[in-house]
Amino acid sequence: MTNETSIKKVAVVGAGAVGSTIAYALLIKNLVAEIFLIDVNVDKEHGEVLDLGDAISFTETGNIVNGTYADARTADIVILTAGVAQKPGETRLDLVTKNKAITTSIITEIGGFKPNAIVLVVSNPVDIITYLVQELSGLSHAQVFGTGTCLDTARLRTNLGHRFSIDAKQIEGFVMGEHGDGEQVAWSTVSVAGKPISEMLSTEEMATITDEVKNEVYEIIKEKGATFYGIGMVVTDIVEAILLDQNKVLPISYRLENYNGVDAVCMGAPAVVGAVGVVKPWPVELTQTEKDLFINSAETIKKYL
Ligand code: NAD
Repeated sequence: MTNETSIKKVAVVGAGAVGSTIAYALLIKNLVAEIFLIDVNVDKEHGEVLDLGDAISFTETGNIVNGTYADARTADIVILTAGVAQKPGETRLDLVTKNKAITTSIITEIGGFKPNAIVLVVSNPVDIITYLVQELSGLSHAQVFGTGTCLDTARLRTNLGHRFSIDAKQIEGFVMGEHGDGEQVAWSTVSVAGKPISEMLSTEEMATITDEVKNEVYEIIKEKGATFYGIGMVVTDIVEAILLDQNKVLPISYRLENYNGVDAVCMGAPAVVGAVGVVKPWPVELTQTEKDLFINSAETIKKYL
């Protein structure tokens, strides 16, 4: 395992609710030397940099600055959060046309990345935007991936942690598929501190929890307009896995090749994440019903590619 955090630079493109919260979470975790915050809305970008800069004297991060696309070309990790977010009642797939156009213009303006850079996609619909960035960036598929179902998996762990009064960190398992309405809790992968979930929940309870996890986004957006704290920690966890070369298994969105019946699509599934980005897929054996749902989810995404 390597530890080269002191020399690492991260560019966060999009200084909205998600981008600025990611920058804040990165500051608190002391993970990087310098953060560039980049947004077309220069006032918003400047205000966020001033506000976040007030936190600098409390962290090991040397600097957070207003960045340019030229700065993104020098970054070790580029985090894409720019674009429109869901409004109440909208699905993530409703954002596809606008966010494809915005992301294409950003990748074109950046015009190239450091040879070993990792590009982490957060903008929704994250599976489709990840595929697009893989096509446009000139980087290998291992270097470009999205947050996938990491946030949904975090929601599942919180949900089950509350239900069983167990530390959420001791809930293992994955939400898989589209980061959106097509996702599923892959219950066959779930355990609570070593106990298989099938010994703890009925099929009806599992179905209820799946709906709660899937619909939490709509509840948050209805009540407070946007989701940003959870994704802030998700991204920080991924950045840590990259910078500390942790080989952590995370349900990111990456290019699946013959994985549980799915091919040539980016979608949430467990993979080993380290300094090179996607080190390798993490093979989990789904049940036939889970596999069918996973394949259906991929078919939905393919229609938008
Ligand atoms: P927001 O509207 O608060 O911020 C978006 C920012 O992007 C704005 O500041 C806007 O000026 C900027 N922007 C637009 N075009 C740009 C361009 N060409 N270059 C640079 N910046 C540009 O939205 P948000 O709440 O921060 O959400 C951002 C994205 O993250 C959305 O697509 C949202 O759906 C997504 N999201 C993903 C997850 C996940 O789990 N992957 C979770 C939450 C939100």
